[in-house]
Amino acid sequence: MSEIQRQIEVQSVGQIRPDAALTNLLGLDRAGLEAFFVAMGDKKFRATQVMKWIHQLGVTDFQQMNNLSKELRNKLTEISCIQNLQVTKDLISKDGTRKWLLQLPDGNHIEAVFIPENDRGTLCVSSQVGCALDCSFCSTGRQGFNRNLSTAEIISQVWLAAHLLEEEKKPGRKITNVVMMGMGEPLLNFDNVVRAVRIMMDDFAYGLSKRRVTVSTAGVVPAMDRLGDTLDMRLAVSLHATNDELRNELVPVNKKYPLKELMAACRRFIDKQNSRSRITFEYVLLDGVNDKPEHARELIKLLKGIPTLMNLIPFNPFEGSGYNTSSKKAVSRFSEILHNAGMTTVVRKTRGEDIDAACGQLAGKIEDKSRRHRRFVEPRFGME
Ligand code: SAH
Repeated sequence: MSEIQRQIEVQSVGQIRPDAALTNLLGLDRAGLEAFFVAMGDKKFRATQVMKWIHQLGVTDFQQMNNLSKELRNKLTEISCIQNLQVTKDLISKDGTRKWLLQLPDGNHIEAVFIPENDRGTLCVSSQVGCALDCSFCSTGRQGFNRNLSTAEIISQVWLAAHLLEEEKKPGRKITNVVMMGMGEPLLNFDNVVRAVRIMMDDFAYGLSKRRVTVSTAGVVPAMDRLGDTLDMRLAVSLHATNDELRNELVPVNKKYPLKELMAACRRFIDKQNSRSRITFEYVLLDGVNDKPEHARELIKLLKGIPTLMNLIPFNPFEGSGYNTSSKKAVSRFSEILHNAGMTTVVRKTRGEDIDAACGQLAGKIEDKSRRHRRFVEPRFGME
């Protein structure tokens, strides 16, 4: 804790009204809000008005929405709410990375991280409490799976971050990109994630372009296909190994969807995108496990013909992980081999180390651990 630049005093932001009977408008995308207004006998266009108030102006009190009639404002107050998560910790790293520990209405906690860079500000968002996939090098995986986040709980991370960053009143503290790379496997919470992504991309909400929203998956093949049919957006695939034997060990979902199927799914995904954009492949470098020159050469063979942006991630250690970070020399040797083969390769900088905000270090806090041993079985589509 000593290195932490500062911990911001946590204040309550937004309206906290944990009443399950009220519809939380944070979780409705444009189509959902239109249906909501039509069902209450009003006009569809109220949806865009209210989206602007909530997401662009940060207003959570219906009475302030002064282009709505008094009657409508009262009705909205009666039947709906704009309920955010509660901020329980708010940490800023000495490198400018900011992390929030957020409490859900059921007492569980998740984390979201803002990572400022020269030309952009990336918000890393969680999609589940814990994770069922049990990747051997990931601390979220160690916790087991508790539950999916609702669309409102996913969007609240964006709303709170946007709001709290604006309060800093400093340049370069704006969300320009969102990556679903926090806790959880987004494609196992498909419907809620898709709705949340639609809100992120909506011009009346956060207006992020399809290049700037990325869903990252450990390789849930049927859901990758479904995503390709549903949205035009960026996909990141956590690869981490070049053969099934090693990948089964590091990313156990590989036993169900082995590399050959995963690679075929990547090709199908690209073919479906209007822009035929590249896929980001993430590859965590584990000392002596997957960081040798022969692994790099295998990687080149495996990804042949797939438009690739390679993201090499030096392993971020956590207690009891059993892995070590690759040496700087091993990382540069690995990246050089890929680079020389013409692959666009980036070594991901470790950010927010002093506040445990780096990849794979997001632990959150699970109150109810009774389901912690539940592991991945089948994609559970349609789960709310
Ligand atoms: N479940 C999704 C998204 C979450 S993790 C997925 O697997 O893609 C985001 C990235 O961080 C993944 O590539 C994940 O494999 C990586 N990661 C997990 N633990 C890590 C660690 N300890 N060090 C470095 N990267 C890690």
